[in-house]
Amino acid sequence: MPSVKYHKGDMVMGRWPGSNLYYEVKVLGFEAKSQLYTVIYKDGTELELKEQDIKKSYCFQPRSHSRSRSRSPGRRRSHSRSPGRSMHRSTSRVAAAAAAAVTETVPSSHEDAKLHEMVEVLLSPLQPIMAAESNRNNKHENKEENNTANKVNESEAKMETEKNQSRYNLRRRKHDSETKPHRLEETKEVTRTAATVSTQLDFGGKIGAYFWLLFLPSWVLFVILQVNLKDPSLVNFPPPFPPLETFWDARALGLVILWILFQVLLYILPVGKLSEGMPLRSGERLTYRTNGFFAIAMSAAVVAAAVHQGIDLTYIHSHFLQLAVASFLISVLLSVYLYIRSRYAPPDQQALGGSSGNMVYDFFKGHELNPRIKNFDLKFFCEMRPGLIGWCLINFAFAMAEMEQQGLDTPSYSMILVNAFQLLYVVDGLWNEEAILTTMDLMHDGFGFMLAFGDLVWVPFTYTLQAYYLVSHPNELSLAAVAAIILLKLIGFYIFRTSNSEKNAFRRNPSDPKLSYLRTIPTATGKSLLVSGWWGVVRHPNYLGDLIMALAWSIPCGFSHLLPWYYMIYFIILLVHRNSRDMSDCRRKYGSAWDEYCRTVRYRIIPRVY
Ligand code: NDP
Repeated sequence: MPSVKYHKGDMVMGRWPGSNLYYEVKVLGFEAKSQLYTVIYKDGTELELKEQDIKKSYCFQPRSHSRSRSRSPGRRRSHSRSPGRSMHRSTSRVAAAAAAAVTETVPSSHEDAKLHEMVEVLLSPLQPIMAAESNRNNKHENKEENNTANKVNESEAKMETEKNQSRYNLRRRKHDSETKPHRLEETKEVTRTAATVSTQLDFGGKIGAYFWLLFLPSWVLFVILQVNLKDPSLVNFPPPFPPLETFWDARALGLVILWILFQVLLYILPVGKLSEGMPLRSGERLTYRTNGFFAIAMSAAVVAAAVHQGIDLTYIHSHFLQLAVASFLISVLLSVYLYIRSRYAPPDQQALGGSSGNMVYDFFKGHELNPRIKNFDLKFFCEMRPGLIGWCLINFAFAMAEMEQQGLDTPSYSMILVNAFQLLYVVDGLWNEEAILTTMDLMHDGFGFMLAFGDLVWVPFTYTLQAYYLVSHPNELSLAAVAAIILLKLIGFYIFRTSNSEKNAFRRNPSDPKLSYLRTIPTATGKSLLVSGWWGVVRHPNYLGDLIMALAWSIPCGFSHLLPWYYMIYFIILLVHRNSRDMSDCRRKYGSAWDEYCRTVRYRIIPRVY
C-alpha cells in the first residue's frame, strides 16, 4: 500500500493542467483508488492531481531575493515600459492575494540542479486585469505584479476567494455528489475512468446525446434523398423511404475502405515535417506528421491517373447514398472502438468534456483526447484526411456528372466556382495543417462519435451538397456575378487565413518578435490572450471569414431553393454554438482575464452586430 505523501490541509504547490506553472494549493484529500489528490487553488478552482504534479512549497523558495532579481530578465525592465502599468498598480491589491504561482525552469548550472527558479504569476481569476499590455512585456509584468502579492491583506483575499470559488470550479465538488446518494453508482463509474477534471455537459447533456445520435444520420439521409428530387424544396414532404436493399452496396463499402487505407498509407509515409502539438495536461507534447498537402497532391495524381485509365467517377454520383451508408457504418465501428479503448485510458489522457460517466454521452462526445495506435493519431488523421480530401474528390466527380447529365463540354461557371472555392478551402487547411493543432477539436474535444461521424460522413456527404444540387439544378451566372462572388470569397479567405495564422503563431511562440506589436492580457495559466490585431476586432474573426466564404460558395447555387443554402444555415448555427462553447471553456480556463477580454472586445463574430 503506497504511503500518502501529502495530507488534508497541507499547503503545497500544484501544477496547473497543461502548463509548467505551479500555484499554491491546499490539499483537500486523497483517493487511494485513483491515487489522486483533490486540491483547491486560491481562486477556488478544485482539481484532482497526481502526486508528481504536486511539490512541497520549499522547492520553490528563492535562495536570496537579490539573486533572483539579478537572474530574471523581467527585473531589468524599466517601470515605465509597461503602458498598462499604472492601472495594474491601482488594482493589484486583491490580485496579489491570489498570486503565488511558481514556474519550474530548467536548472541553469550544476549547483542549481536541485533548485527551481522562482517566477511568480498573477492568478487572474481573483482579479480583473485592467490593462492590456504589450505581448513582449507579459512575463515581466507578471513578476512586477507579484511583488505586491506579498503585501496583500489576507482577509480581503479570503473574501475574494470565497466569491470566486463557486464561479471557477473545474469539476463537481466532492460534497455535491456525496449529498446525492442516488448518484452513487455514477460517481463510482466516474472514479474508475474519470479525467482529472470534468466539465459541464454540452449538446443538451445526456438526453441531447441520444437526440444527436439519431438526428445526425437521419438528417444526412434526408438531404441526400431530397437533393435528388426535381423540386428539392425543404417545405415538401420528405421523399418516400427507399427499399432497404438500396442502402447497401458491397462495392461502395470496399471503395470507402480502400480510400481510407490509401489515406492511411499517405499519412504514415515518412514524408513531410513533424509538428508538435500544444502541451497536454500532463505537460507532454505529441508529435504529428503534418504532410496533408503531400496527401492531397498524391491523391489528385492518383485520381487523375485513374480517370485517364477510363475509371468512371460518375459512379460516386450514382452511388452517393450507398457510399454515405458505408462511411456511416465505418464511423459507427470506429466510435465503438474508440469508446471501448477510452475506458482504459489513463485519467490525464481523457477529454475534459467527455468524461461524464454516462455511456451514451461519452460515446457521443468522445472520452479519450488523443487516441493513438503507436504514433498513428486517429483523431488528427480523421479530421484532416479521408473526409476532407474525399470532399474534393466527390465535388470533382459531381462536376463530371454535371457535364454528362447536362450535355456540357465543360462544367458550368457555378460548378467551377463551388469546386474551386471548396478545393481552395481544403488545400489551404492541408497546407497550414499545423494550425489545426491549436484548434478546439484537437486541443479539447475527445474523439468519439461526434467527431468520427463528422469527419467521415458529415463533411464529405453534406458539404458536397451544393455541387450535388448543381448536377441536376443548373444555375446560370453572368461574368459580373462570377467576379463579384470571387471577390467575396477572397475577402472571406483573407480574414479567415490571417486571423487563424495570427493566433496559431502567437500560441506557438508568444514572444515571436513579429507579433510584438500585438497587445495581450495575461492570464493565470501563464498563457495570454490577444486583444489587438484580428482578435481585437471580434472574439472569433476566423469564424467571420469562414462565414463569408460559406456565403460565397452558396450564392452560385442561386436562390430558387433553400437546400443548397443548408450549409450556410447549418454553419451559422454551428459557429454560434461553437462560439458559446468556447466562451464557457475560456471563462472556466481564464476566469476574470476572460471577462476582461470580453469587455475589451465586445462583439463575438460580426463587428457591431453579434
Ligand atoms: P479557434 O481556432 O478560434 O480556437 C478557439 C481557441 O482559441 C480558444 O479555446 C482559445 O484556446 C484560443 N483563443 C480564443 N481567443 C483567443 C485570444 N484572444 N487570444 C489567443 N487565443 C485565443 O476555434 P475553432 O477550433 O472552433 O476553429 C478553428 C477554425 O476552424 C476556424 O476558422 C473555424 O471557422 C474553422 N471551423 C470550420 C468548421 C467547418 O466545418 N468548416 C467547423 C469548425 C471550425 P487556448 O487559449 O486554449 O489556446
